[in-house]
Amino acid sequence: MSFFENLGATLGNAAGNAIEKGKEFKDVALDKGKEFKDVATLKTQISTAQSNVAKLYKELGEKFFEDNKDSDTYPEISAIRDALVSIKELEDKLMIAQGMTKCPTCGAPVEKGSQFCSKCGASVEQ
Ligand SMILES: [Zn+2]
Repeated sequence: MSFFENLGATLGNAAGNAIEKGKEFKDVALDKGKEFKDVATLKTQISTAQSNVAKLYKELGEKFFEDNKDSDTYPEISAIRDALVSIKELEDKLMIAQGMTKCPTCGAPVEKGSQFCSKCGASVEQ
């Protein structure tokens, strides 16, 4: 083989190798992309399942509280009772802070100066 024939063959091989390397690189990149997509999908599925469990725990807890709200067996139940009382007191303070008063009949917030409750129609003495 002449020098140029050898050079041509060498360059041809090098080009072929480069194309093979390029294909391998592309396959690895596609595999990596698929792995990332699989990981993202799995994370989303786990997160969705965790959200569903949290929602069910909350619903179960509310039902359990309603069925056992007078019980002293669980400290969480008395803590919830106390918190609900605090919330009611804070809501009353908020109503006053916003210039409202409470309907003596139904407990709905009534604008100060109103003569009647807009919810139940009861007369409101100010
Ligand atoms: Zn009322």
